[in-house]
Amino acid sequence: MKPIKAVLIEGDGIGPEVTRAVVAIFNAACVPMEWTPHKAGLAALSAGSEVLPAKTIDAIKEYGLALKGPCTTPIGKGFTSVNVGLRKALNLYAAVRPVRSLQGVKTRFENVDIIIIRENTEGLYSGIENEVTPGVVTCMKVATEAACLRIALWAFRFATHRKRKKITVFHKANIMKVTDGLFINCAERIHKKDYPNIDYNTLIIDAGCMRLVQDPSQFDMLLLENLYGDVVSDLCAGLVGGLGVVPGANIGDHGAVFEAVHGSAPDIAGKGIANPLALLMSGVMMLNYVADERDDVSIKKLADKIKNAYNQALADNCKTRDLGGEMGTDAFAKAVIERLGG
Ligand code: ATP
Repeated sequence: MKPIKAVLIEGDGIGPEVTRAVVAIFNAACVPMEWTPHKAGLAALSAGSEVLPAKTIDAIKEYGLALKGPCTTPIGKGFTSVNVGLRKALNLYAAVRPVRSLQGVKTRFENVDIIIIRENTEGLYSGIENEVTPGVVTCMKVATEAACLRIALWAFRFATHRKRKKITVFHKANIMKVTDGLFINCAERIHKKDYPNIDYNTLIIDAGCMRLVQDPSQFDMLLLENLYGDVVSDLCAGLVGGLGVVPGANIGDHGAVFEAVHGSAPDIAGKGIANPLALLMSGVMMLNYVADERDDVSIKKLADKIKNAYNQALADNCKTRDLGGEMGTDAFAKAVIERLGG
């Protein structure tokens, strides 16, 4: 099998621990990875380079592929988000976050199966904030027709490819009539023009969140602008066991960066108790992405092998503490490795 070349960013906080676990599982599964390690965030700063080194961006551009551990984003002050910077620099405009119930992970609901598509490049994340006068500050929400149409088209294409039935847009166009209005207008245009076969509806986000926690089974795919996508991703993670079990991909037209939805979780960093599953699942998404790109079934088989192994581990009650178990990061990784089979 042709090697799979990808950049590996460990990140910080729990990043190095969970990344190490994922690499060990990939090695044990004989995935032909050729990792090129690069730094970003606090790790890059401590190594004396910029927070998002040009070398890291260039390497991802070269390979078109990266697996990334979480990078801390300071609150209120300090450098701007590495995650946001990377998505912008590489134009990774579509965030994909599948949220599914896992066998062996007890939650309030069974059979949750929602795919969240988040617009990754604009909205309030544009970072345009100003102090108009002392005590008065503003933050600009940006929506462009080009980006709204692009993400809507991407979502409907994805839905078709994955045989999903329905897309729901969460919005607040009753208040933000112009920006959110444009977002839903673009989604509706794409739906009517090219994808009338896929069900489409819109919900005001507050009502949508209430419905999500009452009965998530009524949702199939969610399409959201940047900030709503961030918040609703964590809400949905709570429906299936928390941040330790939700993977993610940031995809553009020329590459993709796979990373867990969770952050660097500084409260548990270095303790060896973080759940590596979300990053492992992101790695499996990465393999499926490469399998699709190359039209190579053998890579898909490797992805399935790892997925079956972690599902079996959970079914056998091998769990980290966030899921109510006792295992540490390495012990869970070992449990997955033991279930990889031949
Ligand atoms: P960010 O602002 O970077 O998105 P966040 O606000 O989503 O971060 P996280 O760093 O993801 O916050 O963590 C929130 C809490 O969830 C952590 O304090 C930690 O207790 C828990 N958590 C997150 N990820 C994991 C994990 N992989 N394993 C176990 N617990 C986790």
